[in-house]
Amino acid sequence: MRVAVIGVGYVGLVQAAVLADVGNKVTCVDINQARINNLRQGIVGIYEPDLDALVRKNVQDNHLHFTTDITQALDDCEIIFIAVGTPPGEDGSADLRHVLAVADSIGNYISQPKIVVNKSTVPVGTAHQVQQHIQTALRARNISLDIEVVSNPEFLKEGCAVADCMRPERIIIGTDNPQGLACELLKELYAPFNRNHDKLIVMDVRSAELTKYAANCMLATKISFMNEMANLAELVGADIEMVRKGIGSDSRIGYQFIYPGCGYGGSCFPKDVKALIRTGEQQSYPLQLLQAVDSVNERQKTKLFNYLQQAFKGELTGKTIALWGLAFKPNTDDMREASSLVVINQLTAAGARVQAYDPKAMEEAQKHIGANSAVHLMGTKEACLQGADALVICTEWQQFRSPDFEQIKQLLSAPIVVDGRNLYEPARMKKRGFIYYAIGRGESVFAQNPSR
Ligand code: NAD
Repeated sequence: MRVAVIGVGYVGLVQAAVLADVGNKVTCVDINQARINNLRQGIVGIYEPDLDALVRKNVQDNHLHFTTDITQALDDCEIIFIAVGTPPGEDGSADLRHVLAVADSIGNYISQPKIVVNKSTVPVGTAHQVQQHIQTALRARNISLDIEVVSNPEFLKEGCAVADCMRPERIIIGTDNPQGLACELLKELYAPFNRNHDKLIVMDVRSAELTKYAANCMLATKISFMNEMANLAELVGADIEMVRKGIGSDSRIGYQFIYPGCGYGGSCFPKDVKALIRTGEQQSYPLQLLQAVDSVNERQKTKLFNYLQQAFKGELTGKTIALWGLAFKPNTDDMREASSLVVINQLTAAGARVQAYDPKAMEEAQKHIGANSAVHLMGTKEACLQGADALVICTEWQQFRSPDFEQIKQLLSAPIVVDGRNLYEPARMKKRGFIYYAIGRGESVFAQNPSR
Protein backbone atom coordinates (compact mmCIF):
# COMPACT_ATOMS: atom_id res chain seq x y z
CA MET A 1 0.00 0.00 0.00
CA ARG A 2 1.04 3.61 -0.34
CA VAL A 3 1.17 5.29 3.04
CA ALA A 4 1.98 8.83 4.24
CA VAL A 5 3.17 9.31 7.81
CA ILE A 6 3.06 12.90 9.04
CA GLY A 7 5.40 13.52 11.97
CA VAL A 8 8.47 11.34 12.23
CA GLY A 9 9.29 11.31 15.92
CA TYR A 10 9.46 8.21 18.10
CA VAL A 11 6.04 6.98 16.98
CA GLY A 12 5.87 8.09 13.34
CA LEU A 13 9.35 6.93 12.38
CA VAL A 14 9.06 3.51 13.99
CA GLN A 15 5.61 2.93 12.49
CA ALA A 16 6.80 4.09 9.07
CA ALA A 17 9.89 1.86 9.11
CA VAL A 18 7.95 -1.20 10.24
CA LEU A 19 5.26 -0.67 7.57
CA ALA A 20 7.94 -0.13 4.92
CA ASP A 21 9.73 -3.30 5.98
CA VAL A 22 6.79 -5.49 4.97
CA GLY A 23 6.68 -3.94 1.51
CA ASN A 24 4.55 -0.83 1.75
CA LYS A 25 5.75 2.37 0.09
CA VAL A 26 5.91 4.88 2.92
CA THR A 27 6.53 8.62 2.60
CA CYS A 28 7.39 10.40 5.84
CA VAL A 29 6.76 14.11 6.31
CA ASP A 30 8.12 16.36 9.03
CA ILE A 31 8.40 20.13 9.40
CA ASN A 32 11.85 19.72 10.93
CA GLN A 33 14.14 20.17 7.90
CA ALA A 34 17.30 19.10 9.74
CA ARG A 35 15.63 15.90 10.87
CA ILE A 36 14.50 15.08 7.33
CA ASN A 37 17.97 15.83 5.91
CA ASN A 38 19.52 13.48 8.46
CA LEU A 39 16.98 10.74 7.83
CA ARG A 40 17.65 10.89 4.11
CA GLN A 41 21.27 10.10 4.92
CA GLY A 42 20.24 7.28 7.23
CA ILE A 43 20.88 9.27 10.43
CA VAL A 44 18.02 8.40 12.71
CA GLY A 45 18.78 10.97 15.41
CA ILE A 46 16.98 9.16 18.24
CA TYR A 47 18.08 6.06 20.08
CA GLU A 48 15.70 3.15 19.71
CA PRO A 49 17.01 -0.43 19.52
CA ASP A 50 17.05 -1.85 15.94
CA LEU A 51 15.63 1.33 14.41
CA ASP A 52 18.83 2.52 12.67
CA ALA A 53 19.24 -0.66 10.68
CA LEU A 54 15.55 -0.88 9.81
CA VAL A 55 15.44 2.70 8.51
CA ARG A 56 18.65 2.34 6.49
CA LYS A 57 17.52 -0.95 4.94
CA ASN A 58 14.18 0.44 3.86
CA VAL A 59 15.66 3.68 2.51
CA GLN A 60 18.03 1.55 0.44
CA ASP A 61 15.19 -0.67 -0.74
CA ASN A 62 13.32 2.45 -1.83
CA HIS A 63 10.39 1.68 0.48
CA LEU A 64 10.93 4.62 2.81
CA HIS A 65 11.09 8.26 1.70
CA PHE A 66 11.46 11.49 3.63
CA THR A 67 10.26 14.97 2.75
CA THR A 68 9.22 18.27 4.28
CA ASP A 69 6.75 18.78 1.44
CA ILE A 70 3.42 17.37 2.54
CA THR A 71 1.96 17.71 -0.97
CA GLN A 72 4.44 15.13 -2.27
CA ALA A 73 3.25 12.61 0.28
CA LEU A 74 -0.47 13.35 -0.02
CA ASP A 75 -0.61 13.08 -3.81
CA ASP A 76 0.54 9.54 -3.85
CA CYS A 77 -1.03 7.69 -0.91
CA GLU A 78 -4.12 5.80 0.12
CA ILE A 79 -3.71 6.15 3.88
CA ILE A 80 -2.44 9.17 5.85
CA PHE A 81 -1.17 8.62 9.38
CA ILE A 82 -1.05 11.63 11.71
CA ALA A 83 1.72 11.01 14.23
CA VAL A 84 2.69 14.51 15.34
CA GLY A 85 3.25 15.50 18.97
CA THR A 86 0.42 16.42 21.35
CA PRO A 87 2.33 18.21 24.11
CA PRO A 88 0.60 19.46 27.24
CA GLY A 89 -1.00 22.88 26.97
CA GLU A 90 -0.79 25.38 29.81
CA ASP A 91 -3.89 24.00 31.55
CA GLY A 92 -2.71 20.37 31.16
CA SER A 93 -4.99 19.59 28.22
CA ALA A 94 -3.46 18.06 25.08
CA ASP A 95 -2.31 20.81 22.73
CA LEU A 96 -3.86 19.88 19.39
CA ARG A 97 -2.17 22.63 17.40
CA HIS A 98 0.05 20.24 15.42
CA VAL A 99 -2.70 17.68 14.78
CA LEU A 100 -5.12 20.32 13.51
CA ALA A 101 -2.42 22.00 11.40
CA VAL A 102 -1.92 18.66 9.66
CA ALA A 103 -5.71 18.32 9.20
CA ASP A 104 -5.76 21.80 7.59
CA SER A 105 -2.91 20.83 5.25
CA ILE A 106 -4.72 17.64 4.26
CA GLY A 107 -7.84 19.65 3.41
CA ASN A 108 -5.77 22.22 1.56
CA TYR A 109 -3.96 19.79 -0.71
CA ILE A 110 -5.83 16.54 -1.34
CA SER A 111 -7.85 16.10 -4.47
CA GLN A 112 -8.98 12.48 -4.01
CA PRO A 113 -10.70 10.61 -1.17
CA LYS A 114 -8.25 9.50 1.53
CA ILE A 115 -8.26 7.53 4.75
CA VAL A 116 -6.92 9.66 7.63
CA VAL A 117 -5.65 7.74 10.64
CA ASN A 118 -5.01 9.46 13.93
CA LYS A 119 -2.09 7.81 15.68
CA SER A 120 -1.22 10.69 17.97
CA THR A 121 -2.64 10.43 21.48
CA VAL A 122 -5.59 12.81 21.40
CA PRO A 123 -8.62 13.57 23.59
CA VAL A 124 -12.05 12.16 22.87
CA GLY A 125 -13.66 14.09 20.04
CA THR A 126 -10.44 14.89 18.16
CA ALA A 127 -11.17 12.65 15.16
CA HIS A 128 -14.37 14.65 14.75
CA GLN A 129 -12.38 17.92 14.92
CA VAL A 130 -9.89 16.61 12.37
CA GLN A 131 -12.78 15.76 10.04
CA GLN A 132 -14.23 19.27 10.50
CA HIS A 133 -10.89 20.96 9.74
CA ILE A 134 -10.41 18.89 6.60
CA GLN A 135 -13.96 19.57 5.39
CA THR A 136 -13.69 23.33 6.09
CA ALA A 137 -10.49 23.50 4.03
CA LEU A 138 -12.06 21.45 1.23
CA ARG A 139 -15.16 23.68 1.18
CA ALA A 140 -12.93 26.73 0.85
CA ARG A 141 -11.58 25.10 -2.34
CA ASN A 142 -15.10 24.20 -3.55
CA ILE A 143 -14.23 20.53 -3.41
CA SER A 144 -16.40 17.80 -1.99
CA LEU A 145 -14.61 14.59 -0.95
CA ASP A 146 -15.50 11.64 1.20
CA ILE A 147 -12.87 11.47 3.93
CA GLU A 148 -12.90 8.85 6.67
CA VAL A 149 -11.04 9.77 9.86
CA VAL A 150 -10.29 6.84 12.13
CA SER A 151 -8.53 6.54 15.45
CA ASN A 152 -5.69 4.05 15.72
CA PRO A 153 -3.90 4.78 18.99
CA GLU A 154 -0.31 3.63 19.41
CA PHE A 155 0.78 1.51 22.36
CA LEU A 156 4.49 1.06 21.64
CA LYS A 157 6.96 1.38 24.50
CA GLU A 158 10.05 3.49 23.94
CA GLY A 159 13.06 1.24 24.36
CA CYS A 160 11.39 -1.63 22.48
CA ALA A 161 9.31 0.33 20.01
CA VAL A 162 10.34 -1.62 16.91
CA ALA A 163 9.55 -4.97 18.52
CA ASP A 164 6.25 -3.63 19.85
CA CYS A 165 5.22 -2.39 16.40
CA MET A 166 6.19 -5.66 14.75
CA ARG A 167 4.38 -7.72 17.37
CA PRO A 168 1.66 -5.51 18.84
CA GLU A 169 -0.41 -6.88 21.73
CA ARG A 170 -3.49 -5.23 20.25
CA ILE A 171 -4.39 -3.14 17.23
CA ILE A 172 -7.24 -0.81 17.97
CA ILE A 173 -9.25 0.63 15.13
CA GLY A 174 -11.70 3.28 16.18
CA THR A 175 -14.29 3.89 13.50
CA ASP A 176 -17.97 4.74 13.43
CA ASN A 177 -18.24 2.84 10.17
CA PRO A 178 -16.88 -0.68 10.85
CA GLN A 179 -18.06 -1.93 7.44
CA GLY A 180 -16.36 1.00 5.66
CA LEU A 181 -13.30 1.16 3.44
CA ALA A 182 -11.07 2.64 6.17
CA CYS A 183 -11.53 -0.34 8.43
CA GLU A 184 -10.99 -2.76 5.52
CA LEU A 185 -7.78 -1.03 4.41
CA LEU A 186 -6.37 -0.86 7.92
CA LYS A 187 -7.08 -4.55 8.47
CA GLU A 188 -5.16 -5.27 5.28
CA LEU A 189 -2.30 -2.95 6.24
CA TYR A 190 -1.94 -4.57 9.65
CA ALA A 191 -2.43 -8.16 8.44
CA PRO A 192 1.34 -8.94 8.50
CA PHE A 193 1.38 -8.01 12.21
CA ASN A 194 -1.80 -9.87 13.04
CA ARG A 195 -0.90 -13.44 12.15
CA ASN A 196 -0.31 -15.36 15.36
CA HIS A 197 -3.78 -14.64 16.73
CA ASP A 198 -6.31 -11.92 16.07
CA LYS A 199 -5.24 -8.77 17.85
CA LEU A 200 -7.62 -6.42 16.09
CA ILE A 201 -10.20 -4.70 18.21
CA VAL A 202 -12.66 -2.59 16.25
CA MET A 203 -14.63 -0.07 18.27
CA ASP A 204 -16.25 3.32 17.92
CA VAL A 205 -13.94 6.33 17.55
CA ARG A 206 -14.58 7.90 20.95
CA SER A 207 -13.91 4.63 22.79
CA ALA A 208 -10.65 4.16 20.88
CA GLU A 209 -9.53 7.67 21.82
CA LEU A 210 -10.35 7.07 25.48
CA THR A 211 -8.74 3.61 25.50
CA LYS A 212 -5.29 5.09 24.92
CA TYR A 213 -5.60 7.47 27.87
CA ALA A 214 -7.17 4.81 30.08
CA ALA A 215 -4.23 2.46 29.36
CA ASN A 216 -1.53 5.00 30.21
CA CYS A 217 -3.42 6.26 33.24
CA MET A 218 -3.86 2.73 34.58
CA LEU A 219 -0.11 2.10 34.27
CA ALA A 220 0.73 5.44 35.90
CA THR A 221 -1.73 4.58 38.69
CA LYS A 222 0.08 1.30 39.40
CA ILE A 223 3.38 3.16 39.67
CA SER A 224 2.08 5.91 41.93
CA PHE A 225 0.28 3.36 44.10
CA MET A 226 3.49 1.44 44.55
CA ASN A 227 5.44 4.60 45.32
CA GLU A 228 2.87 5.53 47.93
CA MET A 229 3.29 2.06 49.49
CA ALA A 230 7.08 2.41 49.35
CA ASN A 231 6.97 5.67 51.27
CA LEU A 232 4.71 4.11 53.86
CA ALA A 233 6.98 1.06 54.07
CA GLU A 234 9.88 3.33 55.00
CA LEU A 235 7.89 4.90 57.80
CA VAL A 236 6.67 1.63 59.31
CA GLY A 237 10.00 -0.22 58.88
CA ALA A 238 8.83 -2.61 56.13
CA ASP A 239 10.72 -3.50 52.94
CA ILE A 240 8.80 -2.62 49.77
CA GLU A 241 10.71 -5.23 47.76
CA MET A 242 9.19 -7.92 49.97
CA VAL A 243 5.78 -6.29 49.64
CA ARG A 244 6.21 -6.10 45.85
CA LYS A 245 6.91 -9.82 45.62
CA GLY A 246 4.08 -10.53 48.02
CA ILE A 247 1.47 -8.70 46.00
CA GLY A 248 2.89 -9.42 42.53
CA SER A 249 2.42 -13.14 43.13
CA ASP A 250 -1.34 -12.52 43.17
CA SER A 251 -2.36 -13.18 39.57
CA ARG A 252 -5.03 -10.49 39.84
CA ILE A 253 -2.25 -7.94 40.49
CA GLY A 254 0.78 -9.34 38.64
CA TYR A 255 4.42 -8.27 38.74
CA GLN A 256 4.38 -5.69 35.96
CA PHE A 257 4.53 -1.98 36.68
CA ILE A 258 4.74 -2.34 40.45
CA TYR A 259 8.37 -1.31 40.82
CA PRO A 260 8.77 1.57 43.24
CA GLY A 261 11.13 4.31 42.15
CA CYS A 262 11.78 8.02 41.80
CA GLY A 263 8.65 8.68 39.74
CA TYR A 264 7.52 8.14 36.17
CA GLY A 265 8.57 10.45 33.36
CA GLY A 266 8.68 10.33 29.58
CA SER A 267 6.65 11.93 26.87
CA CYS A 268 3.45 10.02 27.65
CA PHE A 269 2.45 9.23 31.24
CA PRO A 270 2.83 12.71 32.76
CA LYS A 271 1.10 14.51 29.91
CA ASP A 272 -1.59 11.88 29.37
CA VAL A 273 -2.53 11.76 33.06
CA LYS A 274 -2.79 15.56 33.09
CA ALA A 275 -4.78 15.62 29.84
CA LEU A 276 -7.31 13.10 31.13
CA ILE A 277 -7.66 15.07 34.38
CA ARG A 278 -8.46 18.08 32.19
CA THR A 279 -11.02 16.06 30.21
CA GLY A 280 -12.71 15.17 33.51
CA GLU A 281 -12.77 18.84 34.54
CA GLN A 282 -14.34 19.77 31.21
CA GLN A 283 -17.09 17.28 31.97
CA SER A 284 -17.45 18.68 35.53
CA TYR A 285 -16.31 15.28 36.78
CA PRO A 286 -13.08 15.70 38.73
CA LEU A 287 -10.93 12.58 38.30
CA GLN A 288 -9.86 12.38 41.94
CA LEU A 289 -7.86 9.19 41.56
CA LEU A 290 -5.77 10.59 38.70
CA GLN A 291 -5.22 13.88 40.51
CA ALA A 292 -3.67 11.84 43.32
CA VAL A 293 -1.63 9.75 40.85
CA ASP A 294 -0.20 12.94 39.39
CA SER A 295 0.60 14.62 42.70
CA VAL A 296 2.14 11.46 44.19
CA ASN A 297 4.39 11.33 41.14
CA GLU A 298 5.43 14.97 41.40
CA ARG A 299 6.33 14.41 45.04
CA GLN A 300 8.17 11.17 44.28
CA LYS A 301 10.47 12.96 41.86
CA THR A 302 11.78 15.08 44.76
CA LYS A 303 12.61 12.05 46.87
CA LEU A 304 16.20 11.62 45.73
CA PHE A 305 17.00 15.22 46.60
CA ASN A 306 15.41 14.73 50.03
CA TYR A 307 17.62 11.69 50.67
CA LEU A 308 20.70 13.68 49.66
CA GLN A 309 19.70 16.54 51.91
CA GLN A 310 19.33 14.05 54.73
CA ALA A 311 22.69 12.47 53.97
CA PHE A 312 24.43 15.86 53.99
CA LYS A 313 22.33 17.34 56.82
CA GLY A 314 20.93 20.02 54.54
CA GLU A 315 24.41 21.20 53.49
CA LEU A 316 24.61 20.61 49.76
CA THR A 317 26.35 23.87 48.85
CA GLY A 318 29.72 23.08 47.29
CA LYS A 319 29.05 19.35 47.16
CA THR A 320 29.57 17.38 43.95
CA ILE A 321 27.01 14.70 43.18
CA ALA A 322 27.60 11.96 40.61
CA LEU A 323 24.43 11.08 38.69
CA TRP A 324 23.96 7.87 36.72
CA GLY A 325 21.10 7.80 34.22
CA LEU A 326 19.54 10.81 32.53
CA ALA A 327 16.96 9.18 30.24
CA PHE A 328 13.49 8.73 31.70
CA LYS A 329 13.93 4.97 31.42
CA PRO A 330 16.55 2.54 30.03
CA ASN A 331 17.04 1.81 26.31
CA THR A 332 15.97 5.25 25.19
CA ASP A 333 17.62 8.65 24.93
CA ASP A 334 14.32 10.41 25.67
CA MET A 335 14.65 12.81 28.59
CA ARG A 336 11.21 14.38 28.44
CA GLU A 337 9.89 14.77 32.02
CA ALA A 338 12.76 12.58 33.31
CA SER A 339 13.18 12.35 37.08
CA SER A 340 16.88 13.13 36.57
CA LEU A 341 15.94 16.68 35.52
CA VAL A 342 14.11 17.29 38.79
CA VAL A 343 16.96 16.15 41.00
CA ILE A 344 19.50 18.05 38.87
CA ASN A 345 17.50 21.28 39.17
CA GLN A 346 17.05 20.83 42.90
CA LEU A 347 20.72 20.05 43.46
CA THR A 348 22.06 22.95 41.44
CA ALA A 349 19.54 25.34 43.04
CA ALA A 350 20.91 24.17 46.40
CA GLY A 351 24.45 25.06 45.30
CA ALA A 352 25.71 21.58 44.40
CA ARG A 353 27.58 20.55 41.23
CA VAL A 354 26.40 17.54 39.25
CA GLN A 355 28.57 15.15 37.22
CA ALA A 356 26.19 13.17 35.04
CA TYR A 357 26.44 10.21 32.71
CA ASP A 358 23.97 8.26 30.59
CA PRO A 359 24.80 5.47 28.12
CA LYS A 360 22.62 6.96 25.34
CA ALA A 361 21.15 10.31 26.34
CA MET A 362 24.28 12.52 26.35
CA GLU A 363 23.33 14.40 23.20
CA GLU A 364 19.81 14.87 24.44
CA ALA A 365 21.20 16.03 27.79
CA GLN A 366 23.01 18.88 26.04
CA LYS A 367 19.61 20.20 24.92
CA HIS A 368 17.99 19.86 28.34
CA ILE A 369 20.77 20.87 30.72
CA GLY A 370 23.69 22.00 28.55
CA ALA A 371 23.14 25.62 29.61
CA ASN A 372 23.37 24.82 33.33
CA SER A 373 27.01 25.53 34.20
CA ALA A 374 26.74 23.51 37.42
CA VAL A 375 26.14 20.32 35.43
CA HIS A 376 29.04 18.46 33.84
CA LEU A 377 28.36 15.69 31.37
CA MET A 378 30.98 12.96 31.76
CA GLY A 379 32.14 10.37 29.24
CA THR A 380 31.86 7.30 31.45
CA LYS A 381 30.10 6.21 34.61
CA GLU A 382 33.47 5.99 36.35
CA ALA A 383 34.51 9.52 35.34
CA CYS A 384 31.29 10.69 36.93
CA LEU A 385 32.39 9.40 40.32
CA GLN A 386 35.78 11.10 40.34
CA GLY A 387 35.84 13.68 43.11
CA ALA A 388 32.11 13.30 43.84
CA ASP A 389 30.67 13.26 47.34
CA ALA A 390 27.80 10.85 46.59
CA LEU A 391 26.25 8.85 43.79
CA VAL A 392 22.60 9.15 42.79
CA ILE A 393 20.99 6.71 40.33
CA CYS A 394 18.00 7.85 38.26
CA THR A 395 17.71 5.23 35.46
CA GLU A 396 18.02 1.45 35.69
CA TRP A 397 20.36 0.88 32.72
CA GLN A 398 21.80 -2.66 32.61
CA GLN A 399 25.34 -1.37 33.00
CA PHE A 400 24.50 0.10 36.43
CA ARG A 401 23.19 -3.16 37.85
CA SER A 402 26.46 -4.84 38.82
CA PRO A 403 29.11 -2.13 39.02
CA ASP A 404 32.51 -2.43 40.67
CA PHE A 405 31.49 -1.38 44.18
CA GLU A 406 35.08 -1.22 45.46
CA GLN A 407 35.90 1.24 42.71
CA ILE A 408 32.81 3.30 43.52
CA LYS A 409 33.94 3.50 47.14
CA GLN A 410 37.44 4.49 46.15
CA LEU A 411 36.33 7.21 43.77
CA LEU A 412 33.66 8.80 45.95
CA SER A 413 34.80 10.99 48.78
CA ALA A 414 32.07 9.48 50.98
CA PRO A 415 30.41 6.07 50.40
CA ILE A 416 26.90 7.44 49.90
CA VAL A 417 24.63 5.91 47.24
CA VAL A 418 21.09 7.16 46.63
CA ASP A 419 19.32 4.67 44.40
CA GLY A 420 16.11 5.81 42.74
CA ARG A 421 15.58 2.43 41.06
CA ASN A 422 16.29 -0.09 43.84
CA LEU A 423 19.10 -1.82 41.96
CA TYR A 424 21.03 -3.21 44.92
CA GLU A 425 20.44 -5.19 48.09
CA PRO A 426 20.52 -2.88 51.13
CA ALA A 427 22.07 -5.50 53.44
CA ARG A 428 24.89 -6.19 50.97
CA MET A 429 25.49 -2.50 50.41
CA LYS A 430 25.78 -2.02 54.15
CA LYS A 431 28.30 -4.89 54.36
CA ARG A 432 30.30 -3.25 51.58
CA GLY A 433 30.48 -0.15 53.72
CA PHE A 434 27.97 2.07 51.92
CA ILE A 435 25.36 4.38 53.32
CA TYR A 436 22.65 3.28 50.94
CA TYR A 437 19.33 4.93 50.35
CA ALA A 438 16.77 3.09 48.22
CA ILE A 439 13.06 3.64 47.72
CA GLY A 440 10.94 2.07 50.45
CA ARG A 441 13.54 -0.36 51.72
CA GLY A 442 13.89 -0.98 55.43
CA GLU A 443 17.66 -0.63 55.28
CA SER A 444 17.43 2.89 53.92
CA VAL A 445 15.26 3.87 56.84
CA PHE A 446 17.88 2.49 59.20
CA ALA A 447 20.59 4.31 57.27
CA GLN A 448 18.71 7.52 57.82
CA ASN A 449 17.77 6.84 61.40
CA PRO A 450 19.91 4.15 63.03
CA SER A 451 18.03 4.46 66.30
CA ARG A 452 14.88 3.05 64.72
P1 NAD B 1 7.84 13.44 18.83
O1 NAD B 1 7.86 14.77 19.48
O2 NAD B 1 9.00 12.52 19.00
O3 NAD B 1 7.60 13.61 17.26
C1 NAD B 1 6.64 14.44 16.71
C2 NAD B 1 7.14 14.89 15.35
O4 NAD B 1 6.10 15.61 14.70
C3 NAD B 1 8.34 15.85 15.42
O5 NAD B 1 9.40 15.34 14.65
C4 NAD B 1 7.79 17.17 14.86
O6 NAD B 1 8.74 17.92 14.16
C5 NAD B 1 6.69 16.67 13.95
N1 NAD B 1 5.66 17.66 13.61
C6 NAD B 1 5.05 18.58 14.41
N2 NAD B 1 4.16 19.29 13.69
C7 NAD B 1 4.19 18.82 12.43
C8 NAD B 1 3.50 19.14 11.23
N3 NAD B 1 2.57 20.10 11.22
N4 NAD B 1 3.79 18.46 10.11
C9 NAD B 1 4.73 17.49 10.12
N5 NAD B 1 5.42 17.13 11.22
C10 NAD B 1 5.16 17.79 12.37
O7 NAD B 1 6.50 12.76 19.35
P2 NAD B 1 6.25 11.20 19.60
O8 NAD B 1 6.87 10.80 20.88
O9 NAD B 1 6.54 10.45 18.35
O10 NAD B 1 4.67 11.21 19.85
C11 NAD B 1 3.76 11.45 18.80
C12 NAD B 1 2.37 11.15 19.32
O11 NAD B 1 2.27 9.76 19.65
C13 NAD B 1 2.00 11.91 20.59
O12 NAD B 1 0.63 12.21 20.57
C14 NAD B 1 2.28 10.92 21.69
O13 NAD B 1 1.51 11.15 22.84
C15 NAD B 1 1.89 9.61 21.02
N6 NAD B 1 2.56 8.43 21.54
C16 NAD B 1 3.87 8.48 21.89
C17 NAD B 1 4.51 7.33 22.35
C18 NAD B 1 5.96 7.37 22.75
O14 NAD B 1 6.39 6.45 23.44
N7 NAD B 1 6.72 8.37 22.38
C19 NAD B 1 3.79 6.14 22.45
C20 NAD B 1 2.47 6.11 22.05
C21 NAD B 1 1.85 7.27 21.60
